[in-house]
Amino acid sequence: MRLKTKSIYKELCDLMPGGVSSPVRALYGAKRTPLIVQSAYRDVIEDIDQNKYIDFCSSWGALILGHSEPKLMNELAHDLKRGTSYGITSIYEHKLAKKITSFMPSIEMLRFCSSGTEATMFALRLARGVTNRDYIVKFVGNYHGGADFLLTQAGSGFATYKAASKGIPKASIDYTLNLPYNDLNALEKLFEDPQYKNKIAAVIIEPIAANMGVTPAKKEYMHRLREITKEQNTLLIYDEVVTGFRVGLGGAQEYFNIEADLTCLGKVVGGGFPVAAYGGKKEYMEMLSPLGPVYQGGTLSGNPLALAAGHFVMKELEHPDFYQKLNQKTVNFIEPIRKAIGMKKNFKACIQSVGSMFTLFFGRDRVTDMAESESSDKKMFWKFFNFLLDKGIYWPPSPHEAAFMMRAHSQDHLEKVQNAIIEFIEMQ
Ligand SMILES: *Cc1c(COP(=O)(O)O)cnc(C)c1O
Repeated sequence: MRLKTKSIYKELCDLMPGGVSSPVRALYGAKRTPLIVQSAYRDVIEDIDQNKYIDFCSSWGALILGHSEPKLMNELAHDLKRGTSYGITSIYEHKLAKKITSFMPSIEMLRFCSSGTEATMFALRLARGVTNRDYIVKFVGNYHGGADFLLTQAGSGFATYKAASKGIPKASIDYTLNLPYNDLNALEKLFEDPQYKNKIAAVIIEPIAANMGVTPAKKEYMHRLREITKEQNTLLIYDEVVTGFRVGLGGAQEYFNIEADLTCLGKVVGGGFPVAAYGGKKEYMEMLSPLGPVYQGGTLSGNPLALAAGHFVMKELEHPDFYQKLNQKTVNFIEPIRKAIGMKKNFKACIQSVGSMFTLFFGRDRVTDMAESESSDKKMFWKFFNFLLDKGIYWPPSPHEAAFMMRAHSQDHLEKVQNAIIEFIEMQ
């Protein structure tokens, strides 16, 4: 029963557009009343009607340990007594910055901010400031937050694009170029085009895309991208807001063994608080004010409580077998589902995964770019989502998102979810 949820949600819809603070939470595709959460513990969220759900959204990947990790809660209770915000440097900036720069060698220096949206926006401003160029390149199906100039959709070629939202002046996307993901020809064509050659400030990429469902870039593609950006003095920016500390301590750059000039971090780095960061080579970062001419700042940037949480999580991730265990747990979870897909006649689906992030695509054998992700069977996805929801499982509510394993996912719960998914497949 969800009586309380329904009545509060009705009021919320009068108070907030769609009743939510971020659109995807409204579950429009599922045509269901969204959850209103009261509490969360380990791998379970509980709504205000006391219904419980095993959580695979994991705060969109931000949680890697689990909800309300008891040791973290204890530490934070202690830290809370020292105040919640200073607007002055705190010792946690020193602690967390040291951890991050030691885990990701390409980040020699960094700045903390409060959301992934800020990190990508600031990193691109810096890249434009460093290069004195205006053009930036992004990839169709990659998501970098809500900045005006990053909300574009591709048309038929890289020069034809349109805003992905109303309210964005054409002028603010005039310098944003879109490329299809994983398409070497399109990349080379753009960089050879006389209109853009040696005029591109930066390329921003999710090296392992999470926002069209888990889709890694091809290794040779990443190599060529690194080469071509170096040749033309274009900064290569990795948006590791999802992959940072998710696919390993060194992120996607360690996975590919290809370094970025600037890296954006978010989600996991904040341990469930609004923290993000961007960083890279010293010579670039020193262009930021007060040292240099590129401005960036924020009232709550480097918030001490939030950084304390991030620092706690980093210490847990450092345990030598942390990722090995989490990734193995993910493999054990996925493999029987894969097998069930393989055995099912006249049924097409695939699971794409890297480490502890994975996406189940219906109606496809594989996905390498946004066009293929778009062509997945979305109707089937929403049927799947609702099937799981009715069994007390909260799957990330979009056919283009990743599910995330947390350390707190218990064997019992994983088996329950695995069985439910296999049951769904066999029913089709
Ligand atoms: C979530 C996300 C962002 C935006 O982060 P917010 O904290 O939601 O502003 C940017 N890039 C990627 C790859 C993301 O997944």
